[in-house]
Amino acid sequence: MRTSLEQDSSKWPEVWQAAYRIMEQNAVESQLKAWIQPLEFQKTEENLTEIVFHLSAANDFTVGWVRDNYRNLIESALVQVTGKPCRLELTAGPKVRSDLNTDLPPAVAYSQPPTSSPLESTPEIARGVVLHAEDRRAFEHLPIDARYTFENFVIGNSNQFAHASAVAVAEKPGAQYNPLFIYSPPGLGKTHLLHAVANHVTSHNPKARVAYLSAESFVNELIDSLQHQRMPQFRKKYRDSYDVLLIDDIQFIAGKKQTEEEFFHTFNALYGAKRQIVVTSDRPPKEIEKLEERIRTRFEWGLVSDINPPEIETRIAILKAKAERDDIYLPDDVAIFLATHIKSNVRELEGILIRLQAQSSLTGAEISLEMAKQEIKASIPEKSSQITIETIQNVVAKHYHIRVQDLKSTSRAQKVAMPRQIAMYLIRKYTGLGYKEIGNFFGGKDHTTILHACNKIEEGVSNDTEIRSAVEALQNQL
Ligand code: ADP
Ligand code: MG
Repeated sequence: MRTSLEQDSSKWPEVWQAAYRIMEQNAVESQLKAWIQPLEFQKTEENLTEIVFHLSAANDFTVGWVRDNYRNLIESALVQVTGKPCRLELTAGPKVRSDLNTDLPPAVAYSQPPTSSPLESTPEIARGVVLHAEDRRAFEHLPIDARYTFENFVIGNSNQFAHASAVAVAEKPGAQYNPLFIYSPPGLGKTHLLHAVANHVTSHNPKARVAYLSAESFVNELIDSLQHQRMPQFRKKYRDSYDVLLIDDIQFIAGKKQTEEEFFHTFNALYGAKRQIVVTSDRPPKEIEKLEERIRTRFEWGLVSDINPPEIETRIAILKAKAERDDIYLPDDVAIFLATHIKSNVRELEGILIRLQAQSSLTGAEISLEMAKQEIKASIPEKSSQITIETIQNVVAKHYHIRVQDLKSTSRAQKVAMPRQIAMYLIRKYTGLGYKEIGNFFGGKDHTTILHACNKIEEGVSNDTEIRSAVEALQNQL
């Protein structure tokens, strides 16, 4: 895809389309629809160092919002398509759309007031509003999923602390651990525990007012309330109407000034009234970059607990529990085989079981080891299953002209530290080993060091051209 596009400028809008498809894999659909899809491709300029993509947004408000929140996402998708450094230039280019109601409320300033007249910015932002409004269910809290209960949650060493703290909170909301902050990489049961808290609280006290929502819907609802001058209602709702507020993926609010401001006051109001707050995140408070200090501190006031990837016994137990619940026949050898191969993500483990079940009911054949092997082969690319820790360490060391020993050392020299973090990230990605296990291959480093490295490089891959190209180059050598 890379070379043919470079000469043919008529292809640039297609590049933008291709980049959009990449973004679809990395961002939440509702955000893409609200903010990125409405952007209009204008033109590109190529100079010696980069390609500048000019896109227009409806108004200054949208320009500012997209620039603050989606720039890295967009630029990194463009880099992936073109193979060159890309920069995004956004301008406000309002269009009059005849299909829209012109008598819509003016756009409201978010963190920075629009510099142009609010009227000028009405139509396209209105399109965003209409989108949100169509999906108004999003603002009524997501339903509590009755399948996610404490009873259905399989406990092992990796998650028992998070489980116990969630139970404690559900037993006596607001009484002891407030807020409860649960963090882990994806697919390890954070959302499950939030729903379990909600289910437990409401089953013991049907009058309890419990809300579960994602941080993203908090942001969307806030924007909508700002645009429709409904802030008093928004504030009242979050500050006064819940006994238990459960917010999933709170890292999403980081760097979004006004959301952080509102969340801060919501937090204070609930905390002051001894109402329970539970939040989840993909990383601990101190690693959420750009999070306001006063919010970070508050997260640390209560109890912070993490979930680690489950041990093999827990993985097997999860598979068996799930099979039993869904009435799937799962022989022991298959359970062990699957649990041996899928290590770091319970969602994937469940996914493969569901696919096996589908296959079994389509073909009429019972789930067997052979079937499981085929399925694993299809889901884990051939190549990656042959990549070992040693290969990755060798490739990284060679690439950076250092020794494998240096990677395993405790040296903090930049020349060694960054390659070491990249090696940790690649090992995690290609082998799916747990943080603790990976630590053992780096001279016994603590699992938090590995977690930090993986998060840092993962973020670098989307935000930092240098890290991205290093990782790509190394992956090509694997
Ligand atoms: P996260 O929110 O951390 O990304 P989820 O809560 O969505 O993860 O979990 C992914 C899937 O794995 C869900 O279907 C959940 O029920 C299941 N799961 C995760 N951990 C466990 C566990 N310990 N016991 C049973 N199911 C689990
Ligand atoms: Mg989740």
